[in-house]
Amino acid sequence: MNKFTAILSQINESQDILVIGHVMPDGDDISSVTSLTLGLRQLGKNCFGSIDYTIPEYYKVFAGVSELRSYEDLCDLTPQLIIVVDSSSPDRVGRFQSMLPHHKTVVIDHHATNTLFGDTNWVDASYAATAQMVYTLNKALGVVYDSELATTNFVGIATDSGFFRFSNTDERVFKDAAELVRFGAQPYFVAATILENKRPEQMRLYCTMVSHMILEDSLVYSWLSYEDYLQNDCVEDDSTGFVGEMRSLKDIEVAILVTEFPKNEIHVSLRSKNWLDVSKIASILGGGGHARAAGCSFKGAELKNVLNEVVGLTKDFLQGGIK
Ligand code: AMP
Ligand code: MN
Ligand code: MN
Repeated sequence: MNKFTAILSQINESQDILVIGHVMPDGDDISSVTSLTLGLRQLGKNCFGSIDYTIPEYYKVFAGVSELRSYEDLCDLTPQLIIVVDSSSPDRVGRFQSMLPHHKTVVIDHHATNTLFGDTNWVDASYAATAQMVYTLNKALGVVYDSELATTNFVGIATDSGFFRFSNTDERVFKDAAELVRFGAQPYFVAATILENKRPEQMRLYCTMVSHMILEDSLVYSWLSYEDYLQNDCVEDDSTGFVGEMRSLKDIEVAILVTEFPKNEIHVSLRSKNWLDVSKIASILGGGGHARAAGCSFKGAELKNVLNEVVGLTKDFLQGGIK
């Protein structure tokens, strides 16, 4: 039996199901958790969805997002099945990690760096988005798509493909997105909600990042300290997409943004353009991700130290031509 068939039968055999995603959730994570939760509920399952982290406010217009439950609400549940989506390692699910060893766990993910921590792992890095895997699963389970579910499921495909322009944008991305549009997904609503909904404070924070920016050959990097966020009246979500803007510079191979929010909690975002597999750099530093987009996080660290370490490591890769 292949992984996909095994997951179908495990879902069919389970009534109480918990679906969880990763900390610092992105559009694909939120879309995957909500689309699967709504799909399983439609099939009559007693299913809850949760992400152990703050969800950016603007995602709450999409179906299922407001119904996501907190860890506190769900930690005493004893589901027959836990499905973890878009998460490459068990520490990515926040406090839910402690529940995993005690429950049958299915992992559905598209990160090549996945540690295969479930009892059943459907991990396929050829998918641009986990939301496409959820869509495939929902279809096979017989879930019926209306406009709201289609729009929610479309969100993950749009965001993880950079709105159909990243190197992972292939025929299947367009095919899945087109099918969802046929079911009523609203691409303009998704794009406007996610891309054209900025507060002026975010643009000011962006200016701060640009003012810190350093260009060295094919590398560009910058940072935002906790004080920078406070001074601009911003929170960590407000810098989403900034590192992608640095990658858009001419002749750049790697862009790095190191952020601190709150104090001494550091996140590193790495992006590459053509050849360098930045997930290798993130993995060395305890994180993970994809070849062209990866990250890692540190607690109790100094921003400058993390910046120096990741920049030094990246230069070794760039100068050594290490793919
Ligand atoms: P980001 O730069 O935060 O947008 O993340 C880019 C990619 O790296 C995403 O696919 C994330 O899932 C992955 N990633 C980010 N942070 C981590 C981390 N701390 N551990 C593992 N993977 C991460
Ligand atoms: Mn994600
Ligand atoms: Mn993803």
